[in-house]
Amino acid sequence: MTDQVFDLAIVGAGICGLAHALAAARRGKRVVVIDRDARANGASVRNFGFITVTGQQDGDCWRRAMRSRDIWAEIAPKAGIPIVQRGLLTIARRPEARAVLEEFCATDMGAECRLLDPAAIADRYDGLRTSDFAGALLSPHEIRVESRTAIPRLAAYVEETYGVRFLRGTVVHSAAPPALETSRGRVAAEAVIVCPGDDFRTLHPDRIAAYGLTRCKLHMMRVTPASFDPRLPPIMSDLGLVRYLGYAEQPAAAALKRRLEAEQGEHLAHGIHLIVVRSDDGSLVVGDSHHYADTPDPFAPTAVDDLILDEYRHVFDGPAPRRDEHWTGTYASAADRLMLVDRPSDALRIVLITSGTGASTSFAIGEEVIAELYN
Ligand SMILES: Cc1cc2nc3c(=O)[nH]c(=O)nc-3n(C[C@H](O)[C@H](O)[C@H](O)COP(=O)(O)OP(=O)(O)OC[C@H]3O[C@@H](n4cnc5c(N)ncnc54)[C@H](O)[C@@H]3O)c2cc1C
Repeated sequence: MTDQVFDLAIVGAGICGLAHALAAARRGKRVVVIDRDARANGASVRNFGFITVTGQQDGDCWRRAMRSRDIWAEIAPKAGIPIVQRGLLTIARRPEARAVLEEFCATDMGAECRLLDPAAIADRYDGLRTSDFAGALLSPHEIRVESRTAIPRLAAYVEETYGVRFLRGTVVHSAAPPALETSRGRVAAEAVIVCPGDDFRTLHPDRIAAYGLTRCKLHMMRVTPASFDPRLPPIMSDLGLVRYLGYAEQPAAAALKRRLEAEQGEHLAHGIHLIVVRSDDGSLVVGDSHHYADTPDPFAPTAVDDLILDEYRHVFDGPAPRRDEHWTGTYASAADRLMLVDRPSDALRIVLITSGTGASTSFAIGEEVIAELYN
């Protein structure tokens, strides 16, 4: 299909593949990105576009989120990607949640974050049920992009700026450098990186099976509230403090978990936590839930959305928002790791983000994998 011999072929044009393409192209490599879909359609365009730092697990994940946030901030203006929101306000509805935030604040990760009392929250922001809160943590680190436009613009940026080639609508049947067999013929490349998202079965299924992965399905909504304070950063609440490992690994999280099990057992059973981010048109992206299966079912019961919006109504004042849109997304999940890099040979890498952290960490992972491949 092309006579060109590439230095590097990347399978998958989600954020993981694009991050590797950027890192390789910046080293002067001739890169081709191959994806089965005609346009981005995977987890990378279904997410919140929330580049989350505070709350990521201490250590590699937090460090990669900081680095990736810096790369997003550098690339976004060059690629015409608006930064829609900055920061994060994690609401503590309960004293047990505030205790987790206090412990977090005392760690190195909390150094630039601020704990706010309810009165300080009410001074800064309108529209929250502040009188029901025990406090909140304000983080300065995060940025939020609109994924459905940001991912295509990122692809256009690496294509136009670095000459990265894209072969879309092309399934890769085998990827063993120096050749890939695709639905449109052979592609020659000295090295290959496979970033298949949650497709574990098409390429190197035996290698991927060794990691015992499953898939996670999430419910997402776009809603329009009657009013919303545009000064608000992205919002999370108590349920997120027992899911996000940067908080959940604090000692005080055990008492919060016990209280949530007693008071919000149904939310926990559906893996629900609250993330609310705002778009430029004033609508909000609200989620999400977590259901795990090797093949997630295609059904999305409204009862799960209702539980997400129940938590929303404990955080925001005013009437229920209008529901505009609903979708689901899936990502790869592992019980024992947030990401994996498999090295079947010197010239082949398989990279999977096995948690809901790909928007937040892929740029750093791409830099690390490319540095290791070429050093
Ligand atoms: C609803 C939802 C909310 C999320 N929220 C956040 C968030 O707030 N913050 C955050 O950091 N992360 C979030 N995540 C996680 C993040 O979106 C993922 O970790 C990330 O998008 C994974 O990127 P990827 O490139 O690996 O996968 P994908 O975006 O799924 O891309 C994989 C690509 O590979 C292609 N492909 C696979 N196999 C082949 C083949 N054989 N031939 C050709 N093409 C192939 C597919 O077509 C696909 O385009 C969320 C995920 C979801 C679903």
